[in-house]
Amino acid sequence: MSVNKYDFVSRETREVLQLKRLQETVERVYQLVPFYQEAFRKAGIHPKDIRSLKDLSNLPFTVKQDLRDNYPFGLFAANQDQIVRIHSSSGTTGKLTVVGYTAHDMDVWNEVMMRSLIMSNVSAADTMLNAYGYGLFTGGLGLHTGAEKLGCAVIPSSGGFTSRQLMLMKDFKASVLACTPTFAMHLYEKAISEGYNIREDFNLKVGLFGAEPASKGLKQQVAKSWGLDYIEIYGLSEIIGPGASCSCPHSDQLHIFEDHFLPEIIDPVTGDVLPDGQQGELVFTTITKQGIPLIRYRTKDLTTLYREPCQCGRTLVRMDSVVGRSDDMLIVSGVNVFPSQVEHVLSLIEGITLNYVIIMEKKGFIDRMSLQVEVQEGTDMKNIEEMGELTKTIQADLHNHLSINTRVELVEPQALERSLGKAVRVIDKRK
Ligand SMILES: [Zn+2]
Repeated sequence: MSVNKYDFVSRETREVLQLKRLQETVERVYQLVPFYQEAFRKAGIHPKDIRSLKDLSNLPFTVKQDLRDNYPFGLFAANQDQIVRIHSSSGTTGKLTVVGYTAHDMDVWNEVMMRSLIMSNVSAADTMLNAYGYGLFTGGLGLHTGAEKLGCAVIPSSGGFTSRQLMLMKDFKASVLACTPTFAMHLYEKAISEGYNIREDFNLKVGLFGAEPASKGLKQQVAKSWGLDYIEIYGLSEIIGPGASCSCPHSDQLHIFEDHFLPEIIDPVTGDVLPDGQQGELVFTTITKQGIPLIRYRTKDLTTLYREPCQCGRTLVRMDSVVGRSDDMLIVSGVNVFPSQVEHVLSLIEGITLNYVIIMEKKGFIDRMSLQVEVQEGTDMKNIEEMGELTKTIQADLHNHLSINTRVELVEPQALERSLGKAVRVIDKRK
């Protein structure tokens, strides 16, 4: 049977499998994880009460703090002799969140990565430059083993060393680039400054981008600059790592591998489940993991679900590209705004680049936003009148699209620091 057979089955067929796997997972955590036994008791629910997929909404949520409170292995549902891999992610404060994989979980991870790659038209004939960070972060190794299983040659270049990445990409004839979208743009700028001819020197056809929110404008710039298909890959270590969902060449939306990860959208305030087509917080229940199965894990990522069939023929539920985490939301004079929304507006303005940084400050009781943005190469910054006009355009467009008022400072090309992984888009001076 093909590795991606569940991409195409009917919804009814998949739901039978989902219910069986959900029931097994709920039973597993109830038997093996004291945290869940207690949480189910408090919620007045027993594994036997899960009779249909609708009953999922009666189960309690799991949040990131629960992983921290049970540091390091308190939520594991497998013995140490069954765990073959441990990853963790750092928070800005407090303890690490730790996840463990059994050999079975590694098979699941490899499977969803292979399905993501097949969806992206990547095959054994390809060579992938994997510039996601290798280490505790799941990005590097997650993509690596999945691609290897597919037979794709992987260059494990990890992050940083921009010039060397370009050399490897050219000399090893990489056809697939995997990294964050901002690093892809950084690589492009570097390639231009080092005198490469993008179309002649490189052989890229597909890019697997993720690990940070990106506006439509940035995605288009990356695709156009490198001349490749922009594929977005989404995941988080608590659920599996990269490969929870992936976009296909027919759609900007991402197909969720829902035979392994059951998605729900909830109202982030009330916790109520929202219908398809409505934006809210993405919640995942893992239904095949053994090492650390999570029930109704709140991702804090805001998105929307759709179940209409995709042109590619896949019947998997789709999610919108994540606009941002609820934690990343800025409140500017009473208006909620995500950095990726600011980026989208900037992408529509001539004369500037998508190298920008948002600075948040407190003036008295009021939060003030200001924006530094690099002008395009070759701009005459001494032309005061033109620069004044450009500044006004940016301010007016941000106000018209997002109803926000911001100070704008235009800066020279290359003035802002480049990221070798996830971009720092907001400097918060309020704390
Ligand atoms: Zn599709």
